Amino acid sequence: MEIFTPLLDLATPELYRVNAYRILDLHPKASSRDVRKKLDKIRKMQKLGGSLPTPIGVAALNPPPTEEHLRDAGQRLADPLRLLLDELFWFWPLTDNRDLALEALKQNKMEAAAQLWAEAAAVEKNRPLSIHNLAVLYHLVALENKVGDQQLINYWNEALKYWYQVEQDDEFWGLYRNRVHELDDPRVTDHDVDMIRRDLPLAILGINSRIAVNAAESSDEKTMLFHLNLINQAPCNEASRNRALRDSIMPISKRIKTLCRKARSDIEKNPEKGDDYFESLFNQTKPLMEIQNHVLGEDNPTRNDNQDEIVLASLECIISYGNETEEWVRTRDMMRILVPLAVSMSTQERLNRNLSVITSNAADDLCWFCETNPGNKKYEYEIKMHGDVQQEQTYEGRNITWRHITITVPRCGRCAQAQSNRVWRSFYKGSFIGMFLGACSMVGFNIYYWADMNQEALTGAILGAGIGATVGAVLGLLLQNFAKLPEGIKPSSEMNSFPRILDQKRMGWSFGARPAAADQ
Ligand SMILES: [Zn+2]
Repeated sequence: MEIFTPLLDLATPELYRVNAYRILDLHPKASSRDVRKKLDKIRKMQKLGGSLPTPIGVAALNPPPTEEHLRDAGQRLADPLRLLLDELFWFWPLTDNRDLALEALKQNKMEAAAQLWAEAAAVEKNRPLSIHNLAVLYHLVALENKVGDQQLINYWNEALKYWYQVEQDDEFWGLYRNRVHELDDPRVTDHDVDMIRRDLPLAILGINSRIAVNAAESSDEKTMLFHLNLINQAPCNEASRNRALRDSIMPISKRIKTLCRKARSDIEKNPEKGDDYFESLFNQTKPLMEIQNHVLGEDNPTRNDNQDEIVLASLECIISYGNETEEWVRTRDMMRILVPLAVSMSTQERLNRNLSVITSNAADDLCWFCETNPGNKKYEYEIKMHGDVQQEQTYEGRNITWRHITITVPRCGRCAQAQSNRVWRSFYKGSFIGMFLGACSMVGFNIYYWADMNQEALTGAILGAGIGATVGAVLGLLLQNFAKLPEGIKPSSEMNSFPRILDQKRMGWSFGARPAAADQ
């Protein structure tokens, strides 16, 4: 089904701002002579350097039209199809005499105008145009007025309700067709009127769909959901509703592809900034995916393709970052975010394959003692080991050869701090207890022998305390492994069970840079 493009092109949130009748402050019953007169008047006024009278009321344009708007309005009214479309989206007078509702609008009395049209709609002959004017009025204020949430919902509901009634009203379309006959121009036909009537619901909802897409792109989730709900609940045929929803998806898919392409070209230039590019791709596409989930459901091929596209572009950003910075722990953590998002088997496999490589890279970098934080160069242990010791008896004596390596055990600042606190705590505790017990024992010893306090007893107490403190401190250091460490941190002695050290031990290697035999 070919859509009627001139109508759909017009269906933007700017619909009423570009309306020629509004810009020229005329109404659809104005003759082409009236239009010419109005344009001449405006041009003369501009030539004289005067400004246009500022329009007032609900229908007034704020900010007022520019020179360009005026030129465009003149052209629109010279094209019969565009003129016809502008008539559809502007107020029609109900009578040739004074129209009280239009006058109320000029006085900014929106409620009064709505009331007058609602009353007029009760009279059979006025009904089609009154309903149409109400549709235009509520649609205009819903699009342009800044009002509270509840008021906005009311405006939109009224607008969509009245536009639906317009669409259904054969009499209205009869009047509209009469306008085509009055124009008597081969460039517009009855067929155009049929197309306009058929696509009107799509055009009306298309505006909500555009607003939802714009909101999604600027991460305005509230506005996005508001307009998607309006589309979902709009009183119109199922086909138009679905079409409007689908139409809001097309630009979203396009936008997602553009964002992915941009991320890919960005990492080519600055691979080390892959983490930033991933983050911005992730944040920008999140609301877009929410729309898709909302509109298409979570089991839709278009939605799934887009999701995988995001996962794969993100993966490329993360891998670039990892290769460039060798920050494997961070690389792994970013990659894990993607796991629940991948949809197709092939995307999942590709992600998991990369994740397992990065995870093993990250293990080498992760603090061995908590296995959570990345290691910090400042606190890591360097363990020297040697192996492959060969002894050879020569004339000059024994000749010993061996190989040695230095294994780095990564440690984070937090673990280093906790482990050193524990050593000192144990040391102080041991010294204090030792000092106390030493002093007590010497004093007790003195009392026992001489049964009174004297110079020797005091010296003995000080000596006892000193010896006690030293023995206690040594014991404290030896027994430090029994002191408590925060949950999840291994004691520093566990460095010997670092996997690479265990591997070397299994191969018969020992600690130290050189074998003891070499020092003999
Ligand atoms: Zn740690």
